Amino acid sequence: MPEEPLLKVSDINVFYGGLQALWEISLTVNTGEIVAIIGANGAGKSTLLNTIAGVIHPARGSIEFEGRRINTLEPFHIVSRGVCLVPEAGRTFPNMTVRENLNIGSYNSQARGKKMQNLELVYEHLPVLKERQNQLAKTLSGGERQMLAIGRGLMSDPKLMLFDELSLGLSPIIINELYRVLREIRARGITVILVEQNVRRSLKEADRAYILECGRVVLSGNVAELREEEKVQKAYFGT
Ligand code: ATP
Repeated sequence: MPEEPLLKVSDINVFYGGLQALWEISLTVNTGEIVAIIGANGAGKSTLLNTIAGVIHPARGSIEFEGRRINTLEPFHIVSRGVCLVPEAGRTFPNMTVRENLNIGSYNSQARGKKMQNLELVYEHLPVLKERQNQLAKTLSGGERQMLAIGRGLMSDPKLMLFDELSLGLSPIIINELYRVLREIRARGITVILVEQNVRRSLKEADRAYILECGRVVLSGNVAELREEEKVQKAYFGT
């Protein structure tokens, strides 16, 4: 029998008041994969990640993680199950130190007992955070703040990490560094969903991708196949 997916999103509709942002979205993510969500501005990528993380609840459909429904749970409980959102622009608490920001990540019951172990892991993969542990987050560069957001996510002891616009506005050197960390995270057995403006990059780094247009999945598959799709070539590579 094929292995059950780690995450199964089935037929979800999501509204902001009267505005429908997602239409019958279904997707699966298997343990150990990097799955990219691609789409133009306003396609619904952030809405999808926020819905998986419990920030928004779908009006219809279901979301199952490890075979259990999570779509009515609040974000805090979803983090405890092992799903963690690293939000756009690496949002951190500016007037708290790097170490205090990291501590907040391990607040859930699941992660509390593993705090020191996870802190070691964070410092191993993101050594700049160790160097800067006593600095206020607001004194960090944009790239370092994004690293802090990733580190805070790792402190929650996740099985699945959702990255919203990992590389937005950062320099190529920093972006390479962030992707190195992402690959290390996957090598540790953590599954990844990646929303990324840079389509070339996400099709290079991911195993599979889903393409959203106006709140609907219009294409999905292995990245090697998707790169060859005429629609993808036209829309993203200008050929
Ligand atoms: P971007 O790359 O610009 O972040 P996106 O693909 O992540 O785009 P979403 O931010 O998920 O897209 O937006 C999907 C749709 O929902 C858009 O039409 C957007 O205007 C709308 N939307 C997003 N957030 C809200 C909100 N808080 N209230 C009302 N409408 C919203």
